[in-house]
Amino acid sequence: VDYRQQLMSITTPPVLRATDTEAQKQNQAALLMMGFPSRIVEEKPTLCACHGNLTRGGYLCSRCKAKVCNLPATCPTCDLTLILSTHLARSYHHLFPLRNWIEVPWSRARQKGSTQCFGCLSPLPAVPAQYDGVNGVEHDRASARTKRAEGASESSRYECEACGEQFCIDCDVTCHEVLHNCPGCQSRGQVGGGGGGGEGPADGG
Ligand SMILES: [Zn+2]
Ligand SMILES: [Zn+2]
Ligand SMILES: [Zn+2]
Ligand SMILES: [Zn+2]
Repeated sequence: VDYRQQLMSITTPPVLRATDTEAQKQNQAALLMMGFPSRIVEEKPTLCACHGNLTRGGYLCSRCKAKVCNLPATCPTCDLTLILSTHLARSYHHLFPLRNWIEVPWSRARQKGSTQCFGCLSPLPAVPAQYDGVNGVEHDRASARTKRAEGASESSRYECEACGEQFCIDCDVTCHEVLHNCPGCQSRGQVGGGGGGGEGPADGG
């Protein structure tokens, strides 16, 4: 279990290229047709297609109009997978996981001028004086040589590459393990934050 977690934390899903026909063929097997059935309310009970029970109301298959009582289900008539759109929204993050945020070196923190976490607004440690001058690059090289804890950001900042916002470690953990969304990307109207795009107001990058 621990190995899987570690593996997932350092990998990003492969990019699907619509132009790559061979990849498309391979992916076709993994694609799943899904229907979003409409909920109906009936005055008189009718037979459901799944159990043959008399039920009042249910869901109509979006393809063949067979009635099923519960969702999610596979349509007993046409084999279409029927789910509520909220079910899909809930599992959406498994399809497009939030990309890991990158550690922010002091030089980048200075460039960005971030003073607080974009997520929780808690103050981030100020950029040390030696990085505050024009010689920031040289000092940055020096600091890269000094050993620091693996996976820890020297500036305690973690940056989303999609929107460029910087966060504290707590928000990094929460966003990736609980929310599966980046507050920065969300606030810019980008769905998910995993797909990249990176179109937003120019932030002087
Ligand atoms: Zn039924
Ligand atoms: Zn059907
Ligand atoms: Zn935070
Ligand atoms: Zn983001």
